[in-house]
Amino acid sequence: MSINLSNKSLSISPSSTLAIDAKFKSMKEKGIDVVGFGAGEPDFDTPKHIKEAAIKAIHEGFTKYTPASGMLKLKEAVCKKFKQDNGLDYKPSQIVISNGAKHSLVNAFMAICNPGDEVIIPAPFWVSYPEMVKLADGVPVIIPTTEENGFKFTIEQIENAVTPKTKAIVLNSPSNPTGMVYTAEELKKIAEFAVARNIYVISDEIYEKLVYDDTKHVSIASFGDDIKELTIVVNGVSKTYAMTGWRIGYTASNERIAKVMGNMQSHATSNPNSIAQVAAIAALEGPQDDIEVMKKAFQERRDYMVNRINSIDGLSCKKPEGAFYVMMNITKILNKEYYGRMITNSDEFADILLEKAKVALVPGSGFGAEGYVRWSYATSMENIVEGLNRVEKFIKNQL
Ligand code: PMP
Ligand code: GLU
Repeated sequence: MSINLSNKSLSISPSSTLAIDAKFKSMKEKGIDVVGFGAGEPDFDTPKHIKEAAIKAIHEGFTKYTPASGMLKLKEAVCKKFKQDNGLDYKPSQIVISNGAKHSLVNAFMAICNPGDEVIIPAPFWVSYPEMVKLADGVPVIIPTTEENGFKFTIEQIENAVTPKTKAIVLNSPSNPTGMVYTAEELKKIAEFAVARNIYVISDEIYEKLVYDDTKHVSIASFGDDIKELTIVVNGVSKTYAMTGWRIGYTASNERIAKVMGNMQSHATSNPNSIAQVAAIAALEGPQDDIEVMKKAFQERRDYMVNRINSIDGLSCKKPEGAFYVMMNITKILNKEYYGRMITNSDEFADILLEKAKVALVPGSGFGAEGYVRWSYATSMENIVEGLNRVEKFIKNQL
């Protein structure tokens, strides 16, 4: 007889982005000619000077535990980054270095949520936020946004969602999955609202450097001391420096929050990998030219993808202003038959597309965005052209 598992563990769904990616990789290993647009991770290699710093650290024996919440030198580099990029003054004691921004986010929710506390999450959202809130015994409260509104929520909407149990709101600008970026004016209003209601803002700024055209990234924490006190800024090196596998993320918050996050981390994981921390210092303090190269490539791919999608009858998308994802609207092709099967939702679309066209996209359902599927353009132009050719043929029933 098996013993029951915890209700909490059973309530958590697996990450759909990682699930699609795993499916894509296993098909590829079997020799199937599949094109993947699942997990969003830069296809570029980690810049050489960063790798060299890590290799040097290994040779010099930098292979022991560091302080649980991260090395002082890395915290100082993070403080410098916040000052330079965001005009924010933080002390090293306000910084916690974690095993990826994913871990930083889990720490953040664990630090602020008591059982039953509500966390407002605007949809479409990155798949992990609601599950992370549940892990922290919080209750995710989803507020929908629309494509017509640029996938942005209004102050009225959060006003209506706030209850005495509201603890925080999640902001993710530039957004995964929509690529939406809040303007400084919009952020200022959200900041005023959060301060007036005394609610925390978890501001996930991991895509801050990946903004296109004239779009500017602004940190919500920069609108004065009150909002800075209430904000936990989350960032990391995964996307900016093509360092997804190194697992370094960080937070900036008030000292009280930083302290409890560090305490929890000291029991859960201890310090993030010592060598990866040295690599992160090289990333933050070294030359930044590689970011521009990646950004230029992402922008070209975005432009191509957006134009192609909007030229296919039945499909459409908005032009994203940042990150490296496109949300493709499939509502016009739903409830129609393709290859003898009725497609009624984004899961079925993604399923049959993978089966017939061998193209892996992530269904909108996991992002709280039924009627959409997500493309990642953090892959080669060659893959993008091939993927779109296949999707076009699929839609025209020509496969
Ligand atoms: N936030 C968002 C919005 C993301 O897309 C990702 C990518 N996985 C993360 C956080 C976490 O990144 P990482 O754990 O690799 O630092
Ligand atoms: N953030 C990326 C994505 O959304 C990587 C996968 C993940 O961690 O969910 O695809």
